[in-house]
Amino acid sequence: MTESIISFQKVNKWYGNNFHVLRDIDLDVARGERIVVCGPSGSGKSTLIRCINRLEEHQEGTLRVDGVELSDDVKAIEAIRKQVGMVFQQFNLFPHLTVLENLTLAPMWVGKLPRAEAEERAMQQLKRVRISEQALKYPLQLSGGQQQRVAIARALCLTPKIMLFDEPTSALDPEMIKEVLDVMIELAGQGMTMICVTHEMGFAKAVANRVIFMDQGQIVEQAPPHQFFDNPQSERTKDFLSKIL
Ligand code: ADP
Ligand code: MG
Repeated sequence: MTESIISFQKVNKWYGNNFHVLRDIDLDVARGERIVVCGPSGSGKSTLIRCINRLEEHQEGTLRVDGVELSDDVKAIEAIRKQVGMVFQQFNLFPHLTVLENLTLAPMWVGKLPRAEAEERAMQQLKRVRISEQALKYPLQLSGGQQQRVAIARALCLTPKIMLFDEPTSALDPEMIKEVLDVMIELAGQGMTMICVTHEMGFAKAVANRVIFMDQGQIVEQAPPHQFFDNPQSERTKDFLSKIL
C-alpha cells in the first residue's frame, strides 16, 4: 500500500465550546485518488476539507498532509498550502484585476516567480481550462462557468499536488455546470489527487474512486461509486440519495 497523501486520524473539531462539527474522522487518501464528499447541508463537508489546508483548525486527533502534520506551526501550514489548491462555490476572483492578473498574483508575490514566467504559466493553465482568449478581461465580464474555470486555473498556477473543490458548480446556472465538470474530469484524468464536495452524482460516477457520505459531522458510509449508489448500506445514506437522485 502506498503512503497516504492525506491522513485524518480520529480528528475532532468544535466550533466554539460545544458545537461538535467533526466527530472522530478517520480518512486516508492515496496519491491520485479522487474522492467525492456528499451529505446534507450542515453535515460538516466544508469544514472537513477546509481543515486540510488549515482554513479551519481541528482540536483533537492527527491530520497529515503530504507527510507534514498540521499544527500551529506556521512553517508547516505554509508548506501545506503550497501543495493544496482550493476552489470555492463563490469563485472569489479579484474583480478589479484582469483574469491574467488574478492568476499571476500569488505566483509572483508568494511564489516569487518573475512576471514573465508567472504569465507564461498562467497562459498555460488558462489554455488547460480552455479560456485563454479571455485573459485580459475582468472577471465580471465573464459568465459564471468561465469565472469558475478561471478560479480552477488560478489554483493550478501554484502547481498543487492536491485540489479541493467545495461545491464548485452550486452557484452556476444549469447550462454552465457541464463546462466546469468537464475541466474537473480532465484534471482527474491527469492524475491529480482531488477531493470534491459535490452533489453532481454523474460526476461522482465518472471520476470518483470513492464516495463519502457525511451526516452530523461523521463519515457515515464510504464506497466506490457503483456500490455507493446501487447498494447503499445505511438508512441515512438511502434517505439522502432518495432526496437528491
Ligand atoms: P456543510 O458544508 O456540510 O454544509 P459546514 O462544514 O459548512 O457544513 O458546516 C457544518 C456546521 O457547522 C453547520 O451547522 C454550520 O452552521 C456550522 N458552522 C460552519 N462554520 C462555522 C463557524 N465558522 N462558526 C460556527 N459554526 C459554523
Ligand atoms: Mg459546505
